[in-house]
Amino acid sequence: MAPAINPIQTSSDFPSTTTVVVIGGGIVGLTAALTLAERGIPVVLLEKGRIAGEQSSRNLGWVRKTSRAVRDVPMSVASDRLWADMPARLGADVGYRQAGIMFVAKTESEMAAHEGWLGSVADQGLDSRLLSPGEIDSLVPGGRGTWAGGIFTPSDGRAEPALASSAIARAAMRHGALILDNCAVRTLSFSAGKVSGVVTEKGEIRCDQVLLAGGLWSRRFLGNLGVELPTLPLICHAIRTAPMEGPTDIAVGGPDFSFRKRLDGGFTIAQRGAVGAPLLLDHLLIGTRYLPVLRSQRGLLRISLGKALWQDLMLARRWKGGDVSPFEKMRVMDPPADATINAEALRNIAAAWPAFANLVVEEVWAGSMDITPDSLPVIDAITKVPGLTVASGFSGHGFGTAPAAGQLAADLVTAAATPLLDPAPYRLDRF
Ligand SMILES: Cc1cc2nc3c(=O)[nH]c(=O)nc-3n(C[C@H](O)[C@H](O)[C@H](O)COP(=O)(O)OP(=O)(O)OC[C@H]3O[C@@H](n4cnc5c(N)ncnc54)[C@H](O)[C@@H]3O)c2cc1C
Repeated sequence: MAPAINPIQTSSDFPSTTTVVVIGGGIVGLTAALTLAERGIPVVLLEKGRIAGEQSSRNLGWVRKTSRAVRDVPMSVASDRLWADMPARLGADVGYRQAGIMFVAKTESEMAAHEGWLGSVADQGLDSRLLSPGEIDSLVPGGRGTWAGGIFTPSDGRAEPALASSAIARAAMRHGALILDNCAVRTLSFSAGKVSGVVTEKGEIRCDQVLLAGGLWSRRFLGNLGVELPTLPLICHAIRTAPMEGPTDIAVGGPDFSFRKRLDGGFTIAQRGAVGAPLLLDHLLIGTRYLPVLRSQRGLLRISLGKALWQDLMLARRWKGGDVSPFEKMRVMDPPADATINAEALRNIAAAWPAFANLVVEEVWAGSMDITPDSLPVIDAITKVPGLTVASGFSGHGFGTAPAAGQLAADLVTAAATPLLDPAPYRLDRF
């Protein structure tokens, strides 16, 4: 199960018309809907299951610039500003704290990778710096790990997934957005060669523009329209502890563990060196595009062949507006937590910082992430489908950048003269 989010009351009205429909009630779609509503643009957001029921409630809550692709750094810098403004904008504390993020390196080659990244962002004005083993000890005391060194970005931080999406949804509704859950969008309707609405399981809504922010479902939705979005799923596993002292407020990532302090006083922990990779038909169809990244990260993947493949094969790849769609057949993607990976996380974290040896586990969960071949999202108008914009493929690090990504998506939907950021790195045609 996903961690419970702060509950929100969605709408029971079903509108027949609006200006923009947003498909997907994750943090990206919600932020876009909030931005549009703040600008006075009528917007309806439709979620097939629960608001933030998939990635946006399950993530670890890291808000990081460290180790981002150089061309993705401006989006993370813009997001920092937007996270800092959230209390005023939303009227709620969503747990954003710039307590810093540190990665510790076990080997000289891991350290060289950090050094290489730091050199690549030298002109971006970040506060990241390399750390010696002694500096790691003084920033996060009590460690037993043998580190080659580390990298630290004091202005990185965290926010609470259980609070952020619901607070954004509430603010969007206050500004006039209509948000419906349990309402899957099956496909689009067209007139004169342009999008003219969405066909949902409850009927049609006419609109001028559609934003698809469907997370790992966007590939299937677009595939049905003859558009290919290359994403493959990877499963990340997480653990929540009971409130505890812990060694630091800084979020720390090692090669095979990570931890970060939570607003409720506990920690969110993960095995950073292992993600589940259930084999699916899509691996055959587009797996070769991932070969470069596979070569460098082979040790990370726990490949499995089983239930996920059959579940996936049972879901249609082509359907019409009158058919029950895959989105109704699987309301919430809920992969099982992997006890082996979680046990490794607990063992590794206690070995690195013994303060975690006696932690109490209160909850475990898993979430499926939508990974693109270059680990950057697609935020782009789809030229083949006039009136459709997509914002998906956030590749396991879209919570931190969602404030800027959602705003950029809203800018593209409305063809804003000066979008928040240069959207060039996020174009679909780069694949
Ligand atoms: C375990 C885990 C740990 C992570 N840790 C971090 C982290 O520390 N920091 C970070 O920055 N990122 C992290 N991420 C990634 C981050 O959570 C995602 O990148 C981000 O939440 C993506 O948001 P989204 O709105 O695009 O997608 P989602 O949250 O997946 O939302 C998409 C929504 O669209 C809905 N939908 C899809 N199709 C339809 C349809 N046809 N009709 C109606 N609704 C539809 C889905 O039901 C879903 O709710 C992590 C992810 C996971 C799973």
